[in-house]
Amino acid sequence: TEQTLVLVKPDGVARGLTGAILARIEAKGYSLVDIKLVEPDREVLEKHYAEHAGKPFYEPLVEFMMSGPSVAIRLAGNRVIEGFRSLAGTTDPTTAAPGTIRGDLGRDWGLPVQQNLVHGSDSAESAARELGIWFG
Ligand code: ATP
Repeated sequence: TEQTLVLVKPDGVARGLTGAILARIEAKGYSLVDIKLVEPDREVLEKHYAEHAGKPFYEPLVEFMMSGPSVAIRLAGNRVIEGFRSLAGTTDPTTAAPGTIRGDLGRDWGLPVQQNLVHGSDSAESAARELGIWFG
């Protein structure tokens, strides 16, 4: 069965939405294999977001991800990579579909980085790489 890395990002934890987000994941039927509170340093985030290095939102993104704790989750289930991304909704929370985590719980706060509550790996290759970074 497939696995993916999910992060409840610092905005989700700070707003007290960890439980609501976990409830949606559990209600969908995916299995929590491992879960922990994390406070990543720059080195971890530079690995995690290597594909975005050099983009205008890269530095604000790294700073945002160091602004407070996140929750890292190893999630399992058939087609969980695709399924969690569908549950999360599209990147921009303003236009993410209602019914999704980002669409129901997120908005634009006028900041240089989209604070969109969660991260989910986007492919099997990304999932293997990111699970290695966050869970070793
Ligand atoms: P998706 O792959 O669905 O777009 P994602 O979380 O994987 O979601 P990425 O494109 O990998 O999004 O970007 C990583 C993160 O960087 C986003 O979740 C968001 O927080 C931030 N981000 C992405 N694009 C922008 C942008 N144009 N402006 C500001 N922040 C952005």
